[in-house]
Amino acid sequence: MRKPLIAGNWKMNGLRADLNEIVAMGKATSPALRSRTELLLCVPATLLFTSAAVVIGSGIRVGAQDCHAKASGAHTGDISAPMLFDAGASAVIVGHSERRTDHAEKDADVLAKADAAIAAGLTAIICVGETKAQRESGKALDVVRKQLRGSVPKGGLAADIVIAYEPVWAIGTGLTPTNADIAEMHADIRRTLKSILAKGEADKCRLLYGGSVKPSNAAEILALEDVDGALVGGASLKATDFMAIAGAV
Ligand code: PEP
Repeated sequence: MRKPLIAGNWKMNGLRADLNEIVAMGKATSPALRSRTELLLCVPATLLFTSAAVVIGSGIRVGAQDCHAKASGAHTGDISAPMLFDAGASAVIVGHSERRTDHAEKDADVLAKADAAIAAGLTAIICVGETKAQRESGKALDVVRKQLRGSVPKGGLAADIVIAYEPVWAIGTGLTPTNADIAEMHADIRRTLKSILAKGEADKCRLLYGGSVKPSNAAEILALEDVDGALVGGASLKATDFMAIAGAV
């Protein structure tokens, strides 16, 4: 009932010359792949408009990596959700741990951005995840529950919201939690969502795992209960790796 989603996050990587990777991804999709998996590539804002044109007809959608909470106004250098939609995005990542750290974003900021994204017609991919110290001190579940309660719109719908569980210590490090830890966290996230989202929506909401997903570990992670896809950073930059992960669903 939940169609798996494989989403790439290019972070602050990618020039126009790298669009050939997106072209290669588009060429590598097939009707069979598209029928079982949704593909999304969250590119830097500078590549959004061109990427959206490049993926037409491939089944791949493009998204962004952050948005402002306001639709317009005096916010030099920021980009609003309606602007992203206008440039061809269908989704936006909010609350990625790199933004929570680099820009001191709090749960309330992430919630405001998620609301803005949904109001603009974008899917909000809301990121949560604990630090290494929080996991080692046995607080991972509590930390993520608090982030969910603070960052996910109350009464939200599964059609508008995707949750990405990304342990901070697993991002870009090559480290991953055990499969049992991922499964435990995802089950807990779904339980927590039952008291946040509208009635019946938690079971429909897609929960992605993110943090050092690569072709060699994708199949076992994606086979776990309550894992409905992946948010992929480094391995989404190359078409061969990203499509191998998509093929592992
Ligand atoms: C990410 O940035 O969302 C991510 C999961 O990165 P990586 O796959 O490189 O760990």
